[in-house]
Amino acid sequence: MINMDVFRGFLQAIHHLPEMAQPIEMSDAERVNKAKAVMRSKLDRSLALDLEACVSCGYCSEACHYYQSTQDPKYTPSRKLDLLRRLHARETSAFAPIKRLYTPDITVDDLKEWQELCYDSCTECGRCSMICPMGVNTARGEFIKLRAA
Ligand code: SF4
Ligand code: SF4
Repeated sequence: MINMDVFRGFLQAIHHLPEMAQPIEMSDAERVNKAKAVMRSKLDRSLALDLEACVSCGYCSEACHYYQSTQDPKYTPSRKLDLLRRLHARETSAFAPIKRLYTPDITVDDLKEWQELCYDSCTECGRCSMICPMGVNTARGEFIKLRAA
């Protein structure tokens, strides 16, 4: 027996979503700093190894249904980790002082682009991790990315 009160409750809650999900007032710089702080807190040794081990072979694209159905390079799984990779290159990699010279810092526009890649283009299915010949656990990075954005 379906309890219609549950559905009515959901319906009421949906009407109140705009009030419940008000964006926090933040400057662009604060937003970037906050996102970078979250990413930094997730960047452990294992993730750093994954970021460094990628050889850009593109096999993971073959596994990702977003890339397969659109053929748009922005949906390549490894590309979805680009911001994490940039943060690692600039701040935590062995050659960070050198890499910082040619690796661009993260901007608020990057975060906006990443938001779409994060929330609308990954089901966290894990297929990209299973196919990677380098053993890169891209899906794990995807999960971290979701928490950071
Ligand atoms: S399959 Fe692995 S090594 Fe190849 S691009 Fe994807 S993450 Fe990088
Ligand atoms: S985990 Fe995300 S990026 Fe990887 S194959 Fe699945 S949908 Fe694509």
